[in-house]
Amino acid sequence: MVYWQQEYETMNHTELHELQFKRLKQTVANVYENVPFYKKQFNEANIKLENIKSLDAITKMPFTNKHHIRDNYPFNLFAVPKKKIVRIHSSSGTSGKPTVVGYTSTDIKNWSNIMARNMAMIGLTEDDVFQNAVNYGLFTGGLGVHYGVENLGAMVVPSGTGNTKKQLEMMLDYGVTALHCTPSYALYLAETAQEMDIIDKLSLRIGCFGAEPWSSNTRKDLENILDLKAFDSYGLSEMYGPGVAFECQEQDGLHIWDDHFLVEVLDEEGEQVAEGEKGELVITSLTKEALPLIRYRTGDITRLLESECACGRTTTRLSRMLGRADDMLIVRGINVFPSQIEQVIVQIQEITDQFQVIIDRGRHHLDEILVRVELDDDAFTGELKDLAAVRKHVENELKTILNIRTNVELVEKGTIPRTGGKSQKVIDRRNAL
Ligand SMILES: [Zn+2]
Repeated sequence: MVYWQQEYETMNHTELHELQFKRLKQTVANVYENVPFYKKQFNEANIKLENIKSLDAITKMPFTNKHHIRDNYPFNLFAVPKKKIVRIHSSSGTSGKPTVVGYTSTDIKNWSNIMARNMAMIGLTEDDVFQNAVNYGLFTGGLGVHYGVENLGAMVVPSGTGNTKKQLEMMLDYGVTALHCTPSYALYLAETAQEMDIIDKLSLRIGCFGAEPWSSNTRKDLENILDLKAFDSYGLSEMYGPGVAFECQEQDGLHIWDDHFLVEVLDEEGEQVAEGEKGELVITSLTKEALPLIRYRTGDITRLLESECACGRTTTRLSRMLGRADDMLIVRGINVFPSQIEQVIVQIQEITDQFQVIIDRGRHHLDEILVRVELDDDAFTGELKDLAAVRKHVENELKTILNIRTNVELVEKGTIPRTGGKSQKVIDRRNAL
């Protein structure tokens, strides 16, 4: 099966824009009528429904951000009565009130079809056994992927997170062919499988990895060690959850489903960036019933890819996420993304892919940035013959990319903490007393 909903996946641009325009007007009418927050926003911006004459009207509309969702905790942004809501999900809420998202039964059906599209696109079939090794429950990653895979007809193993040896046993015993988890957990699974000496007995052929940024070198490692093809998955709970955009088998950017999402890439002032430039991904939902969102600022940095995709799908494509707008560190007035540091680290053979960034206020109150990296086992088989040379090399490479001098600290392999979920890569001590 190549397509799940071919009509939408290969729609020509004229028809697509007509459909988007129709759905945008419906969405705006819906939020204006049913969500007091938006009624106020649109009134303040002096936007009337009858003046929305083309898709370009989006550029005049007000933005929505995470704070708006929190301020309307828990259900005040919902556009339907509570009895129409069949499920909620929420963020963990570790930093204040969680963001709560809701779904009607139509929303759940749309989400499941979007996910099944992604699964068909990466070549999953009814013959596959799919281990979903992410957190179930309030987090969208578990159920969101689960229902899409079931919808497609493959067998789901809802393993959840934790107990890595048990995860690997399930993979062996059930003949698991496809895996979904975070890339850092996949690396950990791979290391553990090597230690258990079972790596050759696994039958994996497809991996879906998301929820944290990962580099093309991590992809190569995962593909080589686990003997699978690794696909990048993008999503956010505010836009259903996982599956908003996904790589196809060309592995050349992520297809985002334009019939459900209207996409903009904007600079810090909220203006559209020039073609191919990076900026913040801003999404307007076009089909969501329970929680329609206008110009939602995702905080994710990406680039639009303009070329046609060889797979035949005509959707907009995004580059892999380049970082988070709010992860951006400002060090001595220079913008630094942890993802840029990762890009450098993974290319240097003497060190592992693990790193930690520590920012401190040093002498004369100037910010100092320390990058801690791990020496690899075979650090001295290459050209660099001693610690000082390795450290100098890493510092030079970082300076080239970041335009700022960093101090590099070399530590033993395995000493930088690895976690099952998102890694704590940045320690900012500048505001600590
Ligand atoms: Zn494609």
